[in-house]
Amino acid sequence: MTLITRDKITYRFSPDQKPVAMVEAGETVDVQTHDCFTGQLKSEKDLITEIDFAKVNPATGPIAINGAKPGDLLTVEILDIELGENGFMVTIPGEGAFGSRFDTPTTKMIPVRGNRFQFNQSLSFPIRPMVGVIGVSPEQGAIPCGEIGDHGGNMDATVITKGSKLYFLVRQNGALFGLGDVHAGMGDGEAVICGVEIPAVVRLRFGLISMPQYKPLRPIVEQRDRFITIGHGPTLDDAAQQALDDMIKLVMYKTDMPVAEAAMLISAVGDLKVCQIVDPQKTARVEMPRTILPDENSPLWK
Ligand code: CA
Ligand code: CA
Repeated sequence: MTLITRDKITYRFSPDQKPVAMVEAGETVDVQTHDCFTGQLKSEKDLITEIDFAKVNPATGPIAINGAKPGDLLTVEILDIELGENGFMVTIPGEGAFGSRFDTPTTKMIPVRGNRFQFNQSLSFPIRPMVGVIGVSPEQGAIPCGEIGDHGGNMDATVITKGSKLYFLVRQNGALFGLGDVHAGMGDGEAVICGVEIPAVVRLRFGLISMPQYKPLRPIVEQRDRFITIGHGPTLDDAAQQALDDMIKLVMYKTDMPVAEAAMLISAVGDLKVCQIVDPQKTARVEMPRTILPDENSPLWK
């Protein structure tokens, strides 16, 4: 078992960084992650406006996967997510869906005890751990971990959780993978601008598919009963259109359906959902049931 500790972080996905670790395909790896504030909030007295914003949204990494080369698909199975003890939420005046309602920033500490998080004295909820930031290096340039692109990044999709398998198109030798920004819970939309932000240990297993017949430009998420495309864009409409376009390509590849049939199938059984609406780039996803596949038990890519 390889352990990658949370002192090994980066704030950008880019090809010019030295990997913090080299792992093998098939290997199980525990990755410690900071919360999205890099631990700068320690109590409810610490305000978001007083922290160093250069140290927001870290990803642990970059992690090189031995043998990964451009054009391969990197598979990442999320085997487990173990949460820290305390999550934090914040409000920021002017930010998020409710920003005009706040005059001052606030910080809320949310303890996680067992399988529940304690929102306040009277309300607790089952944890729904998920990974907000996850991706590989882009072809060129440096993309801050707080942003979203075809490489992945800050997608904030609640389906990136224990039991999910992600597929990333590799753009650099070693893939240069990273992840962070775990939430103990987050509603679709992430309306206030954050989930229950918390440090974590994420157990992963990497794999490689060389020379895949079909190369998805953006990350695909696979679960036991569904598969999911995630789109992004400056508006929610743009994000939705991209997720739908990615899904129809994937459905046509997997089923050999003509375009009209595939389009009607998505309209009949595909669910278009919001990921988040609070970043400059919005994210949306389309979820399709696995039962549309000729062999619903086989993985999306072999
Ligand atoms: Ca996020
Ligand atoms: Ca977050």
